[in-house]
Amino acid sequence: MIYLDNAASTAMHEEIVKEMLPYFCEHYGNPSSIHKIGRVAHNAIHNARKKIASLINAEPEEILLTSGGTESNNAALYGIAYSKKGNHIITSSIEHEAILEPCKQLEKEGFKITYLSVDNQGLVNPDDVKKNISYDTCLVSIMFANNEVGTIQPIEKISKICRQKQVAFHSDAVQAIGKTLIDVKKLNTDLLSISGHKIYGPKGVGALYVKKGLEIIPFILGGGQENGLRSGTENVASVVGLGKACLLAKENFEQNISYLKKLRDILASKIIVEIPHVTYNGHQTQRIPNNAHFTFFGVNGEDLIIKLDENGIAASTGSACSVMTQKASHVLQAMGFSHEKITGSLRLTVGLNNTEEEIIKTVEIIKNVVKELREVSPFKAKYGF
Ligand SMILES: *Cc1c(COP(=O)(O)O)cnc(C)c1O
Repeated sequence: MIYLDNAASTAMHEEIVKEMLPYFCEHYGNPSSIHKIGRVAHNAIHNARKKIASLINAEPEEILLTSGGTESNNAALYGIAYSKKGNHIITSSIEHEAILEPCKQLEKEGFKITYLSVDNQGLVNPDDVKKNISYDTCLVSIMFANNEVGTIQPIEKISKICRQKQVAFHSDAVQAIGKTLIDVKKLNTDLLSISGHKIYGPKGVGALYVKKGLEIIPFILGGGQENGLRSGTENVASVVGLGKACLLAKENFEQNISYLKKLRDILASKIIVEIPHVTYNGHQTQRIPNNAHFTFFGVNGEDLIIKLDENGIAASTGSACSVMTQKASHVLQAMGFSHEKITGSLRLTVGLNNTEEEIIKTVEIIKNVVKELREVSPFKAKYGF
């Protein structure tokens, strides 16, 4: 199988698995215990936190450990909303469901949510953020990079506006982490979400950066772990895994980016040149290095994915959630794509385990499969396939 769905999840790095293993049967203590076995677990968490912080240039005490990107996003939204600093939140129309669904819930609870539109490349206009901030705005939440089309937002500009207006700023950086430079001090963000399994670490673990001095209201209450902000016995092995994933992402940052970009650019340029009636969607340059998103006109994306699967290629139309709910992608709709353009869309996301040979082979298979599907397409006459 050629795996080109690295935006959905990644294979765990073997070194990360190795680092985690002792924390199941050997160092099994509860980090809150006073005895030696507990202290070993406590120290492991402490060291992992330092590595997570280091990747984004935060302080270890600014890292809140969570069960993943979804919980980090929920913790940021509810954490600020319930701190009663205002009744209005600004976000974008292309966020992940882990932002949009809690926003919908907050609307039901009386909060006012502004969903900013994007242009046809998937970019939020910072001026729109500025225009929509009112005395009642308590939070702006704009994703760092989009999970479907890969577009990187002008985060530094948006963050600066929020700073000037003294409104908290959160960014869902799950897709961006390890693939673009993120320095929370330089960017001056208040909250930032990351997830383990998108960066070769384990599933079910993540972190929320919470800037020192920012008050957030916890919604998981209990034994008071994580400074009372997120109770529950720490997922020690997974936290160790997240720490190692962040360390590897930092150590190999430049070479990872250039490798991903090399593979992605071969894939994108070959597909654009060798297949007719195709568009390369998202921002052409301001995008994460592993994402390629296309529309093959006259083809149904779902059919394409099934055919590719039969031919040994794992791909996606976009977000995992949209497949399950069978809804047209809200991201592509927000970008103003026609129904036809959305229908023919395909997301290919390369990873560090992919090889150049795989990419070449993939292009050949896509070429054949698209041709095959177009033979029976109702749009055959329109395009003259
Ligand atoms: C995957 C993803 C999430 C959810 O993270 P989980 O760790 O799977 O809960 C949130 N936001 C974006 C942009 C994602 O790609």
